[in-house]
Amino acid sequence: VAGFGRLVREARGDEEGTMAEQIGGTTPKTRLRRLPELGSYERSVVYEILDSTSVCHVAFVVDGQAMVLPTLYRRRGDTLLLHGSRSSRMLRAMVDADQVCVSVTTIEGLIVARSTFNSSVAYSSVSVFGPARLLDDLEAARDALDFLIEGILPGRTEEVRPSSDSELRRTSVVAVEIVEASAKISQGPPSDDDDDIETDVWAGVVGRSESWGPIIPAPDGPVGRGEVDVPSSVRRLVEGSS
Ligand SMILES: Cc1cc2nc3c(=O)[nH]c(=O)nc-3n(C[C@H](O)[C@H](O)[C@H](O)COP(=O)(O)OP(=O)(O)OC[C@H]3O[C@@H](n4cnc5c(N)ncnc54)[C@H](O)[C@@H]3O)c2cc1C
Repeated sequence: VAGFGRLVREARGDEEGTMAEQIGGTTPKTRLRRLPELGSYERSVVYEILDSTSVCHVAFVVDGQAMVLPTLYRRRGDTLLLHGSRSSRMLRAMVDADQVCVSVTTIEGLIVARSTFNSSVAYSSVSVFGPARLLDDLEAARDALDFLIEGILPGRTEEVRPSSDSELRRTSVVAVEIVEASAKISQGPPSDDDDDIETDVWAGVVGRSESWGPIIPAPDGPVGRGEVDVPSSVRRLVEGSS
């Protein structure tokens, strides 16, 4: 199971020597109540989890109705960059709110305990709180969008035409400032009841990995006719994850 547990141990070790930089846990907003021993408020731990994936869930309220929607993001410095249509209610509500909450989760495995009660998921998750602002300058938006694309498919911006001004005007780019955050990391092994441990019921952790592929060319144009090679950005992505 992937090594975010190592990150927490390192951060704790670090705390004993130098002062690890904490970005949460000092207010009720980010203080973990259940299983706080799985938590970390260390900036480097939070950022490594944020950088390990590209999908977040954004909580927002529209007309008194709470909503949660998934969307792409990448971290740049102390901000998360998100984008979408100009008419996105989610992005508008984020900018209108004083504070937003963004959540990120990766699942590294299944923790299969000797009882269903103690079984669980091996995960790493982060909650981020902070204000959101619209990048309304066209060049700032273009730069942020390129950063977002490069974070997901490195090298792609060099292979395609630049976004047009019209495309940029139809796109909102929002930056969420990471003011406060918490991480929670559950890796196993199972934590079974004493009475269950000496039974012959199997228990352990089933790891999970993600990879990219297969590559399916677009059906139309020269690509569909097999006249265009798979670009290096796509080859690198697939080879790097296999
Ligand atoms: C994949 C996955 C599956 C889970 N399954 C379950 C489940 O089935 N049942 C269940 O009760 N819980 C589950 N959890 C844990 C859940 O996310 C909460 O941590 C838990 O419900 C207890 O929260 P709390 O009462 O301490 O949090 P609260 O007191 O409600 O939260 C206070 C603050 O703690 C921080 N926090 C809380 N949880 C997390 C988290 N997971 N990651 C980062 N920061 C956090 C946030 O900053 C939050 O604002 C799961 C988590 C993940 C990632």
